[in-house]
Amino acid sequence: MNPFEYRNGELHVEDVRLSQIADQVGTPTYVYSRQALLDVYQRYVDALGDHPGTVCYAVKANSNLAVLNLLAEAGAGFDIVSGGELERVLKAGGKPEKIIFSGVGKTRDEIRRALEVGIACFNVESISEIDHLAEVAAECSKIAPISLRVNPDVDAKTHPYISTGLKQNKFGIGIQVAEEAYLYANSLPSLSVKGIDCHIGSQLTDVSPLLEACDRLLELHDRLVQQGIAISHLDLGGGIGVVYRDETLPSIADYFAQVKEKFGDRQLAIFCEPGRSIAANAGVLLTHVEYLKMTRHKNFAVVDAAMNDLLRPALYQAWQNIQPVLQAADDAEVKSWDIVGPVCESADFLGHDRELALQEGDLLAVMSAGAYGFVMSSNYNTRGRAAEVMVSGSRFQVVRQRESFADMIRGESVFAG
Ligand SMILES: *Cc1c(COP(=O)(O)O)cnc(C)c1O
Repeated sequence: MNPFEYRNGELHVEDVRLSQIADQVGTPTYVYSRQALLDVYQRYVDALGDHPGTVCYAVKANSNLAVLNLLAEAGAGFDIVSGGELERVLKAGGKPEKIIFSGVGKTRDEIRRALEVGIACFNVESISEIDHLAEVAAECSKIAPISLRVNPDVDAKTHPYISTGLKQNKFGIGIQVAEEAYLYANSLPSLSVKGIDCHIGSQLTDVSPLLEACDRLLELHDRLVQQGIAISHLDLGGGIGVVYRDETLPSIADYFAQVKEKFGDRQLAIFCEPGRSIAANAGVLLTHVEYLKMTRHKNFAVVDAAMNDLLRPALYQAWQNIQPVLQAADDAEVKSWDIVGPVCESADFLGHDRELALQEGDLLAVMSAGAYGFVMSSNYNTRGRAAEVMVSGSRFQVVRQRESFADMIRGESVFAG
């Protein structure tokens, strides 16, 4: 289902006109479709079928409480990368026993809190982290469930900034030394080895690197079993990529079918940590055109959303479709526009060379903005962060207020001398 479609020349999300949301809430505003979020989550659940395992939504893709609560109620687990994300999941009604904790830099305080609430598993990324975890668990008289995040040295063939499974990346424990690391972890009484984890990158449009990583993990699994180390789950890391433009993507069902086939008769649960694929195409960023600025070389449409609201174009040269909320008349003049924000950086653009018929005051929707959108926003240029809205059928609700000036300076003070 595409929740974003034109009806009578007007872009809707589910049964709500985007122009109505802009009128009532203002812009820039992120808008999420409840149905779209659930649909993709359900595709992962269906792909898992009756195989034991958990779909752990990667919270960092979109951590709004309404999104987390929706997925928690649907039965999702969660993959977190900070203590802040842990508190968000708990606040949103997520169950601690379905939380896995990833990330290269967990602090002792974060570890302590996660042990106290009783999360399902720590995905451990280094030998030093094994030691920290063992120490903190012993101090709290707990046994920490762990899997080691293995770096399988597989090229995910995605943007270098979101490629994480090569030996030059900071992530995980090298596959060559993983066996030794497992033997060491297994010897520590305050740790309990549960699984093997990897995450080789994001926005993968081909499953072959994922399957190659899976093969390497299974080889490691078999060696560990020979060493007497019991493993109960394999964690495949993030989900598959999404369509931003014209990408062709493997189906989630096919990917999982191939993984299960590789498992053979090994008794292993499947964990996965999809973020982008669940949230990206469930959201748009609404923005108004403030100024049209024509120069001899370029046409610029200056909009009220900027790189502080949506960083992906500036950070990854990412392409996201930009559509008018009201379709232009057939005879309206189409020109090539750079859609840019008001921030004082030349990297502040949302799209280059877009063929659109634009006028000042037009409302635009930046598509596929539900993942790695709001969560990466900042107050750069002292711009308050955007509002967030969730739509269900013909109803919508502000699920995060637009940030005010008072919000932005909360905690600041002038030096008293
Ligand atoms: C970012 C991340 C994910 C989510 O990846 P997507 O491509 O958004 O599905 C999963 N696991 C880990 C460890 C991550 O860092």
